[in-house]
Amino acid sequence: MPKWPVGYAEIAPYIAKAAEQLGISSKFFDPQAIFENRGVPVDELVDRKSEILQTKVFQIAQDIRLGPKYHDELGASPNLRIYHHLNLTQVRLRSDGKEVSHLDCATLNGRKVQVRAKVFALCCHAIENARLLLTSNDVMNVGIGNAHDHVGRYFMDHTHIFASRFIPGPEFPAAYDRMYADLFHLNANVGFTDDFIRKEKLLQYYCRFNPVYMDPRTREAMGYVRDGFMAPGDFAYLRDVATMLGEVGGVTRFSLSRTNLRHIQPDYYELEHRLEQAPNPDSRVVISDRRDALGSLIADLDWRILDEDVRSFKIGQERIASEFAALGYGRVELEEITRDLVESRIAGHYHQIGTTRMSDVPEDGVVDRNQRVHGVGNLYIGGSSVFPTAGYSGPTMMIVGFTIRLAEHIEKQLAA
Ligand SMILES: Cc1cc2nc3c(=O)[nH]c(=O)nc-3n(C[C@H](O)[C@H](O)[C@H](O)COP(=O)(O)OP(=O)(O)OC[C@H]3O[C@@H](n4cnc5c(N)ncnc54)[C@H](O)[C@@H]3O)c2cc1C
Repeated sequence: MPKWPVGYAEIAPYIAKAAEQLGISSKFFDPQAIFENRGVPVDELVDRKSEILQTKVFQIAQDIRLGPKYHDELGASPNLRIYHHLNLTQVRLRSDGKEVSHLDCATLNGRKVQVRAKVFALCCHAIENARLLLTSNDVMNVGIGNAHDHVGRYFMDHTHIFASRFIPGPEFPAAYDRMYADLFHLNANVGFTDDFIRKEKLLQYYCRFNPVYMDPRTREAMGYVRDGFMAPGDFAYLRDVATMLGEVGGVTRFSLSRTNLRHIQPDYYELEHRLEQAPNPDSRVVISDRRDALGSLIADLDWRILDEDVRSFKIGQERIASEFAALGYGRVELEEITRDLVESRIAGHYHQIGTTRMSDVPEDGVVDRNQRVHGVGNLYIGGSSVFPTAGYSGPTMMIVGFTIRLAEHIEKQLAA
C-alpha cells in the first residue's frame, strides 16, 4: 500500500474542525461515547468480548446541505466572487509548463471567459479532476501532472456486496441492527481491530446487519401501499393489501420497529459486506473520443477489482461468522464468496477516490503533501482524488478536513 505523506497527528485538528462544521461528534473512535451522545441504549459491544472484532460507527450528519448553510456567508465575503453555471473546460499552462496561466471557462449558452489568478485549486471531484488534467494537454502532451502516468489511475470506491444471512439469538446487541440504529441517525457495524487487519493483511472491511421481518414480496407490497403509489380501491392496491394480510406478523413487527424506540428482533439479517478497495493502477479514468455540449472530451471509467479485494470480502465474512458463533450471537448461513459472486453483486457508494493521489515524490503520485500538483507551482487539487488509499468511512469529512488545511496553506503562501 502507498504511504500517506500526511500522518494522523497532523490531520487530526483539521478533522476536528470538519466535524464541527458538519455537526457531528469528533470522538470517532469511541463507539460507546457516540452511542451515548445520540441516546442509543447500548448492550455490551463486540469490542469488549472479542479480541479481533471492533465496532465501526457512522454518524449521519443532520444539517448537511452546505450550499444553503454557507450561501449567505460566502456571498457576503469581500474576498470572493462566485459564478454559477460556469464550466471549466481547460487548464492552461504557461509555455514552460511550470505554472498555470489561466483557466478557459464556458457556459452552456455560449459565453466563454478566461479566469486569471495567482493560485488555482481544482475541486471538481475525482473523475472530473482527472479528466481536466488529462485533457488540458496543449503544453504537456500527456496532460498536467502526468509525467509519471498516475493521473486517472487508482480509482477506488467503497464497495459492497450482499451475501449470506445471519439468524440472531437474544444475545446479539440491538445497536448493530441497521434499521434500529437509523432511528438515532447513526449506523453501527462490525469490523476488525487494526492488529488483526495488519496480521491477516486485509483491506478495511466491515459488516452491516440489515433486518428482514418478512418476505421481500410483502415488503415491496407494503412500500407501495405506505408510499401511496396507487389509489385505495385499485386492483393493484387491493392485491398489495392482501399480500400484507398474508403476513400480518412480519408487517406488524416491521412497523413497530420503525415507530418504537424498542428493538424488535427480525427473522434474520441480510449481511452487507463493505470494503475499501486496494489501489490498482488499472482501475482508472480514461478519455473517450466522445465530446460533451461544450466540446470537451468525455471521461470513461474503467473500474476494476483485484483478487485482494475478493480475499478480504471472503475472510471478512468467514471471521465474522466464526466469532459470532463463538460469542453465542447466533448462526450465519454462509454463501461462499468467490470472484464470480463478487463481480455479479458488487456496487459502489458514489465515493470517488484516487485518480490524483498524494505522494512525497513525483514518481509515486500527482500532488505533494500540500496538495500542490508536482512540478506546477500554483495549481492545487482538493477532494478525495488526492487520497492514496480509500479507508472504510465516507470520504466527505476527510475531504472537508484536508480542504480546510489546504485553504490555510494557500493563505500562508499568498501572505508570504
Ligand atoms: C447519493 C450519494 C450519497 C452519498 N453519501 C455519502 C455519505 O453518506 N457520506 C460521505 O462521506 N459521502 C457521501 N457521498 C459522497 C460525497 O457526496 C462526496 O464525497 C462529496 O460530495 C465530494 O465533495 P467534493 O466537493 O470533492 O466534490 P463534489 O461535491 O462533487 O463537488 C464538485 C463540484 O465541482 C463542480 N464541477 C465539476 N466539474 C466542473 C467543471 N468542469 N467546471 C466547473 N465546476 C465543475 C460540480 O458541479 C460540483 O459542484 C455520497 C454521494 C452520493 C452521490
